[in-house]
Parts: sequence; C-alpha cells; structure tokens
Amino acid sequence: QPTNQPYQRVLLKLSGEVFGGGRVGVDPDVVQKIALDIAEVARSGVQIAVVTGGGNFFRGAELQQRGMDRVRADYMGMLGIVMNCLALQDFLEKMGVETRVQTAITMGQVAEPYVPRRAIRHMEKGRVVIFGAGMGMPFFSTDTVAVQRALESRCDAVFFAKSGVDGVYDADPRKDPNATKFDTITYTEAIQRKLEVVDQTAFTLCAENKLPMVVFGMEPEGNIPRVLKGEKIGTLVSA
Ligand code: UDP
Repeated sequence: QPTNQPYQRVLLKLSGEVFGGGRVGVDPDVVQKIALDIAEVARSGVQIAVVTGGGNFFRGAELQQRGMDRVRADYMGMLGIVMNCLALQDFLEKMGVETRVQTAITMGQVAEPYVPRRAIRHMEKGRVVIFGAGMGMPFFSTDTVAVQRALESRCDAVFFAKSGVDGVYDADPRKDPNATKFDTITYTEAIQRKLEVVDQTAFTLCAENKLPMVVFGMEPEGNIPRVLKGEKIGTLVSA
C-alpha cells in the first residue's frame, strides 16, 4: 500500500506493565484500548509489528532475588509474555484486523514459530505481527528483542511506549523532580549517561545499526497512532 506517512514499517514495544494496568495479569479493558490504537495505525497503511514485554507476570531477575534459578525464572518470564500477545491478538482480530503471533519458543498450538521472512510477508499483506516469548533466551530483555526484531524485519524505526513517563529524561522523573526531558538525544549520550528508560543493550544495538528510536508516553489516549503516524511526541534517539 502506498502511503504518505513518514514511516512505512514500524515496530512498537509495549511493556508488560501496560497490559496489566498496574496489576498482575491482563486487564482486558486496557488491552482493548491499545488494540483500537494499533488497528487505527494498521488501517492507515503503516505496516506494524509489536513486541510485548511480560513484567505484568514475571521478571526473571525479580524471581531470582526471591530464590529461584535465574534461567528457569527467565523462561517463566518468556511464557508470561506470550499471554500478553494472545490477549492483544484477540482484541485486534475482534476489530477485524488480521494478526499473526510469532514466538521465539515454539508452541505450534498457539502461535507460529518466529520466521523472519514470513513475518515481513505478513506485514506486507497488512497483518499485524506480534512477536512473543522474547528472544527465546534467558538473560535478555524485551527492549533488546524489540530492537533486534525491528532490525531483522527492516522497520524504519522502533517505538517504546511507556506508561508513567513520556520520553527520555536526564534522571528518573519519578524520583527526581528536577529531571528534564530531551526532545532529541544521541545514542552516544544516552549510553554515556547510563539512562535506564530503555535497556543499555537496546541502546547499543540501535546505535550500532543506526536505527532511530522513539520513546514516548501512552498518555494521553491516542498517542500511539499519533506517534506512529509521524507526529513528534516523546524523545527521538538517533545517531
Ligand atoms: N525474558 C528473557 N529473555 C528474553 C526476553 C524476556 O529471559 O529474550 C524474560 C526475563 O525474565 C524478563 C521477562 O522475560 O524479565 C519479561 O520481559 P521484560 O522484563 O523485558 O518485560 P517488560 O519489562 O517489558 O514488561
């Protein structure tokens, strides 16, 4: 589909906390709202893939602190991610948007395996591709996965939707009242300042491959379609 939008193909990363509406598990009302936003973007002709987090179920590092084996806990984290993918898929399909979930851990009954070229094909056909189960490997975060999937499926940019923060700050705005927001920042500076809004590994991978990154807040409603269609919201991180 021809489009006059600045981005033709985008990757959207949604953290797990977004799905839970602040609690453990999935809040269907919240997921429905996100699905509406994503449907709007897909219908505008922008090709879209999504990577979901899983922090609303399990984070490996947290379970490790409470005595669990890190590797097994990370696999639990990855399985949690898949539940978010299925919830999002459900609401999108109800809205008439075609979707495919592809997981990095094979589970043929619920999703396709991760096959990058097929993912691209789905997007070309206007389907929303939802990448689940992270990288399929312990010790990684879904931020890093988002950048890797964006690179491999040749997206124009990677977008991190955040709840509670609306961009990249020089300090954590939830802790430091003097924190100031950047409209733009270079990867080098984001890495040197050890900013934590997105994982350092994700910043590094973006930097090495010159992939533009946008960090923005979910609030107010409608920010997802606005930013994915090219409005300057949040912080642009680039070379
Ligand atoms: N995880 C993993 N490998 C990956 C992606 C995720 O082991 O490639 C595990 C890890 O335990 C992580 C959890 O899945 O804590 C949930 O992912 P993440 O913390 O990135 O989710 P978010 O913070 O975005 O909700």
